[in-house]
Amino acid sequence: MEWYQQEVEGVLAALQTTANGLSGEEIGRRLQHYGPNQLQAEEQVKRFVIAVHQFKSPLIYILLIAALVTALLAEYVDTGVIMAVVILNGIIGYLQEFKAEESVRALKKMLVPRARVVRDGLEQEVDSSSLVPGDLVLLTSGNKVPADLRLMKTLQLRIDESMLTGESVPVDKLNAAISYDNLSPGDQLNMAFTGTTVVSGRARGIVVATGLQTALGRIAEEVREAAYVKVPLQMHLERFARRLAVVIVGMSLLVFLIGLFHGISLAEMFIVAVATAVSAIPEGLPVAVTIALAIGVARMAKRQAIVRKLPAVETLGSTTVIGSDKTGTLTRNEMTVNRLFAGGHVYEMTGSGYEPSGELLCDALPVDPLLAEHEPLRTLLRIGLLCNESQLYREAEQYKVDGDPTEGALIVAAMKAGLAVEAEQQRYPLVAMLPFESEYGYMATLHRQGEKKLLFLKGAPEIVLARCGADSVGDIFDRQAVLQTAERFAGLGLRVLAMAAKEVAPDLEEPTHAMVDGGFLFAGLQGMIDPPRMEVQEAVAGCRRAGIKTIMITGDHAVTAVAVAGKLGIGGPDPQVLTGKQLEKMDDDELFNRLESVSVFARVTPQHKLRITHQLLRHGEVVAVTGDGVNDAPALKAAHIGIAMGRTGTDVAKEAADMVLVDDNFASIFAAVEEGRVVYDNIRKVTLFLVSCGFGELVAILATSLLGLPIPYNPAQILWLNLVTNGLQDVALAFEPGEPGVLLRQPRRPTEGIISPLMIRRIVIMGLIMAAGTVLMFFTYLRLGMALEKARTVALTTMVFFQFYQAANCRSEEKSVFQLNPFGNPFLFYSLIAAFFAQLVVLYVPMFQWIFRTVPLTVGDMGLIILAATSIIVGVEMDKWRLNRRKNLV
Ligand code: ADP
Ligand code: MG
Repeated sequence: MEWYQQEVEGVLAALQTTANGLSGEEIGRRLQHYGPNQLQAEEQVKRFVIAVHQFKSPLIYILLIAALVTALLAEYVDTGVIMAVVILNGIIGYLQEFKAEESVRALKKMLVPRARVVRDGLEQEVDSSSLVPGDLVLLTSGNKVPADLRLMKTLQLRIDESMLTGESVPVDKLNAAISYDNLSPGDQLNMAFTGTTVVSGRARGIVVATGLQTALGRIAEEVREAAYVKVPLQMHLERFARRLAVVIVGMSLLVFLIGLFHGISLAEMFIVAVATAVSAIPEGLPVAVTIALAIGVARMAKRQAIVRKLPAVETLGSTTVIGSDKTGTLTRNEMTVNRLFAGGHVYEMTGSGYEPSGELLCDALPVDPLLAEHEPLRTLLRIGLLCNESQLYREAEQYKVDGDPTEGALIVAAMKAGLAVEAEQQRYPLVAMLPFESEYGYMATLHRQGEKKLLFLKGAPEIVLARCGADSVGDIFDRQAVLQTAERFAGLGLRVLAMAAKEVAPDLEEPTHAMVDGGFLFAGLQGMIDPPRMEVQEAVAGCRRAGIKTIMITGDHAVTAVAVAGKLGIGGPDPQVLTGKQLEKMDDDELFNRLESVSVFARVTPQHKLRITHQLLRHGEVVAVTGDGVNDAPALKAAHIGIAMGRTGTDVAKEAADMVLVDDNFASIFAAVEEGRVVYDNIRKVTLFLVSCGFGELVAILATSLLGLPIPYNPAQILWLNLVTNGLQDVALAFEPGEPGVLLRQPRRPTEGIISPLMIRRIVIMGLIMAAGTVLMFFTYLRLGMALEKARTVALTTMVFFQFYQAANCRSEEKSVFQLNPFGNPFLFYSLIAAFFAQLVVLYVPMFQWIFRTVPLTVGDMGLIILAATSIIVGVEMDKWRLNRRKNLV
C-alpha cells in the first residue's frame, strides 16, 4: 500500500513513531540508516577543472608557440623563461580562481534550510538535512516542504506544487486516506512533497521519505540548481578586456613590423611582439573582479547581510530607493500592549518587553482588573490570549515568544491582568482555527464553552468592526467612537488590534472565512508599542546623504505608520502617506505620478507592494524592496534587489530574494549598500591599475621602435614585468577598504559603465608618463655610452618602480596618496614589499642575472630610477588636485 492509501494511525505504526515525535537517539540511528535529507552530495570545487582552465587561453597558446620558436632557434634560455612564465601564470591564476570559486560556493552554505519539528514531545527548529522518516514536521504558510510528508492534520492548507507537477494553481490538502491506486503525486491530496511551497494554512505531517527517496529526489538530476552565473559587470569587463586585447595585439603587430623595418630578425621581433601583447593584456582582470565581488560578499555577511545572488553586490552600490517593511525591519518587533479600550474605558498598561508584570491604570489610577466592572476588559484580554497561535516561554530568566510578537504581546497583556493561560485554555478548549494571513487581516478561532461554541476574532480594527453587529460586549456600541479611539492609539505610534466574538452553532467543527463575515460582538481594542530601532534613524539619514530615498511599505494603519516614520525621519518632518484603499482607486499612471512625494504606504497588501515596485522601476530607480511573506515573493523578484528577512522571513521569500538580512534590520541594508559601493570602487581601481600599466609598457616599446632605438627590454624582461606587477597587486587592490566618502556621494547611474571619462583620462596620463620616463632613462643611459644590457636593466627597473607607485596611486581616484594610510590595505603593502625583493633578486642574484640578462645596478643608478619613477606620483597628484579644486568650486 502507498502512504496516501493508509490511515494516519497506520503510517505512525509503520514508521514506529507517535504523535510526540521521535526521540533523539532514534533520530541518530535513523540518520545513520537513511542518510542526510539532501538532494545531492555537496559539490566540491573541482581543482582539476580550474587547473586546466588556466591553460586554456589564447595568450597561453601564443606563449607556447613562442616557446617552440625559441627552442627551434636554440635560444634555450628564452624557452625556459617563457615556460616558467606559463607555469607561474598558471599557478597564480589557479590560486586566484580557486579562492574566488570557493568564496562563491560559501555563499550557498550561509543559508541552511530549517524545518520545524516535534521531537521528544517538544516543538523545535532543526536543520532540514537532519530529518528522518518518522519525524513530525509542522508547516505554515511560506514554508518550503522539507521532506515528503503524509499529512496528519491540516488547517486550510494550500500548497503550490508547480515545481513538481507543473500545475500552477495551489492545491487544497486534506488528511483522510485515499483508496485509489496508482495516483500521481499531483493527486495525492493528503501528501506534501519536498520542494513544494505552502501558500496558506497550517499542517502537521509525518516524514515518509527523505533525500533521494522523495518524489523530487527521484527526478533531482533534472532540477539541479543552476550553476553560478556571471554578473553583468563581469561579462561587461570580459568584453572590455577582449576588445582591449584586440587593440593590444594590433599595436604589438605594429611593433613587430617596425622592428622588421629596422632590420631586426624575424625571430626576435616575433618574440618581442608576443611578450608585449602578453604583458599588456589585462588577463588578470576577470579573476580580480570575481575576487572583489567575493570580498564584498564576505564583508556584507559580517554586517548581517547575506547575498544569495552575486549580481546583487554590484547593483546594491547603485541603489536609489529602498522600500522597507515597518514591523521588524524599521522597528524592533518587540511588542508590548500599552493601551486598551473596553467597556467604554481606556486603560493603560505599564511594563516593557515580554515580562508579564505591570500595572493596569484607568484615568491614571491603578485598577484591579478582577473587579466585576472590568469584566469587558477581561473578555477583551481573553480573546487576545486564546485567539492566538504563539507561546510565551521562559529561558534563562527571560521571557521569550515562540511565534508572532504581536500575539506574544497579547498573551503578556492577559497575564498582567491576572488571566491564567492554562486555566483559560481549559475553560475554552480550541476546536479549530483560521490562521492569520495578511490578505485577510484577521484571525479567527473556534472554542468550546460547555455546551456552546464561540468564534473569537482578532485583527485590524476596520476589518473587525466591519464584521460586528450593533451591540458590543458590555456597552452600547459606537462605531465612530471606537474608530476614533483606534485612531488616537495609532497616533501614539501603536499597532492596534481589535477583538470580537460570537456564538455559533454547537455542532460547528470547521469554520470557514464565509462564517467570519458578520454578526460579531465587539469586545475592544489593544494597542501595542513596537519601539523603533535606534540605529535605523542614523541609517535613514545616511541613506539621504548617499542620495537614497527610504520609503515605508507596511500593512499597518496609516496613522501608526506615519507616527513611526516621523520618529525615524522617513519622508522628513511631515511624511506623505498613501493607503492601500487610495492606491486601489488609482491607475498605474496616477500612482507613478504620486511616487515622488509619498514616502509611507500603509495598509497595503503584497499585491500593492508589487505595483509600487513596478512604478518605481518605471521611474528608472534602482529599487531594493524588503519582504517576509509568501506573497511578497513577486515584489522581491521584480525589484532589482529583493531583500528577505532572515528571522521572520518565510522560505519562499528567502528563495525569491537576492539578499537576506540575518537580523531583519534596516541598518544592515544600508551597510550592504556601502559595501556594494566599495566593491564597485575597487573594481575600478583594479581596472585602472592593470590597463594603465599595460598601456605604459606598450607605449614605451612602440615609442622606442618609432625612434629607431633598440627595444628597451628583452622578451624575458617584459614577461617578468607582467609577473611582478600583475601577479599580486591587482588582486591586492580588490582588498582596499572603503574610502570615507563612499556614502556621501550620489548613487552611480546604472547606465554608467565601469570605465568613466576620468579613468580614461588617467589611463592616458599615467601611461604616457610611465612610457616617457622609461624611454628617457633608457635613452640617457645609451647616450652615456652604457652597454645595451645596462640600459635595459635600468629601463626595466624604472618600469617596475613606476608600477609600484601606480598601485599606490590607484588606491583612490580623488584622495592624495599621502592622505591614505599605507597599512590600510596590508595585502597590498606586503605584496609590494615582496615584489620589491623579487626585483632585487633579479638584479643581484647571478643565476637570475643570467636568465634575464640583467646587470647589477649601483646605488646611484637606483637613486636615479626612483627619482624618475616619482614623476608618476607627481603627475597623478596634480590631476587629483585639479579634480578636487574643480569639485570645491562647484
Ligand atoms: P505589517 O507586518 O507590515 O505591520 P501585517 O500584514 O503583518 O503588516 O499586519 C497588518 C495588520 O493586521 C496589523 O496592523 C494588525 O492590525 C493585523 N494583524 C497583524 N498580525 C495579526 C495577527 N497575528 N492576528 C490578527 N491580526 C493581526
Ligand atoms: Mg507582519
